[in-house]
Amino acid sequence: MDHFLYRDGVLHAEDVSIPDIARTVGTPFYVYSAATLRRHFQVFDEALAGMEHLICYAMKANSNVAVLKLMGDLGAGVDVVSGGEYLRAKAAGIPGERIVFSGVGKTRDEMRLALEGGIRQFNLESEPEMRALSEVATSLGVTAPVTVRVNPNVDAKTHEKIATGKSENKFGIPITRAREVYAEIADLPGLEVIGIDVHIGSQLTDLEPFRLAYQKVAELTQALREDGHTITRLDLGGGLGIPYERGNEAPPLPMEYGQVIRETVGDLGCEIEIEPGRLIAGNSGIMVSSVIYLKEGEGRDFLILDAAMNDLVRPSMYDAHHDIVPVFEPEPGVEQRPHDIVGPVCESGDTFAKARNLPPLGPNDLVAFRSAGAYGAVMASEYNSRPLIPEVLVDGDHFAVIRARPTYEEMIARDIVPEWL
Ligand SMILES: *Cc1c(COP(=O)(O)O)cnc(C)c1O
Repeated sequence: MDHFLYRDGVLHAEDVSIPDIARTVGTPFYVYSAATLRRHFQVFDEALAGMEHLICYAMKANSNVAVLKLMGDLGAGVDVVSGGEYLRAKAAGIPGERIVFSGVGKTRDEMRLALEGGIRQFNLESEPEMRALSEVATSLGVTAPVTVRVNPNVDAKTHEKIATGKSENKFGIPITRAREVYAEIADLPGLEVIGIDVHIGSQLTDLEPFRLAYQKVAELTQALREDGHTITRLDLGGGLGIPYERGNEAPPLPMEYGQVIRETVGDLGCEIEIEPGRLIAGNSGIMVSSVIYLKEGEGRDFLILDAAMNDLVRPSMYDAHHDIVPVFEPEPGVEQRPHDIVGPVCESGDTFAKARNLPPLGPNDLVAFRSAGAYGAVMASEYNSRPLIPEVLVDGDHFAVIRARPTYEEMIARDIVPEWL
């Protein structure tokens, strides 16, 4: 459920009408619903009730500092994958003891930043990385709390670009080698083993891969304890999928996911961490765009929008589906015709959807892309010298711009022409 609904025929974000925002900030733009973000955090919190837990929002899904502040105020931790994300979390007031550092290639500088600023744990992904962290921690005279991200070799049954839990993926250490690796860590100075980490992919729409992975983590917990390690925390990653196609998809609910966690690792006496990103932010945001032209082609009509692949790359990158709806609700019975919905960028890949049924639309009409709150604004670029589009946060009946659209001058001023040219 989200808070983007028609009221009197006009799409609203909570109590704010989308055309009102469009008049203020211009199109295209992203808009997020605070109530939806809060609700998604709460459903996870309830799903894990009765188990000691921390929800570490995977901020790569949407890392606007205002969104992070909102999550932090609810008590969420965050999962970061770079020094930049770490500093954004800090800028949002999230304390180091609620920041988990993931990622396959943490640099020594990033390790130092986190060790100096405070960190809940590092999720280690390789032996060279373990050794590097040991050296950095030792040089600072501190001890780094660590887990090892194990690769359980399970098929997450998701898009190949976002599957991470198979042996052929670059992530983690093969679970079959985990005991050796933990033994090695125990011998390294500056590292303290606290638990195990796993994350098998994103947009999972089936619970079985989670169950398989978590069963393997439970077995490994027992084995590592027998080897003398202290395992008190299990980081079970993120990845729970969301419905992108309304009425056509019903991925498992957080409550059912919580039940899988309870059944597989619930009796190990460990604190549970999860790292949901998409499920928290995805359906909490939409992207709003205006029609520039309706171009009638041979056998198909092209709806050319002012948003493009550089603003929302998911359709061209992952063949992703976004529901695209008119901001003014069509009258019942209006004839809908198939349109190819495209942006102005000079690539055929700049196609959001093909043969999508829409009512008659023309220049300046507004459309909304649903489920655009995760992996939307964060993946945007300025390709074709199109300035990054603004982000807006709605809470009840008020809204604020939480990232402004840069001017053309600001965009161009970042380039530097050397004086010798
Ligand atoms: C991307 C990622 C997540 C979040 O995945 P979602 O599908 O957005 O929930 C969690 N943990 C790690 C390590 C990730 O890389």
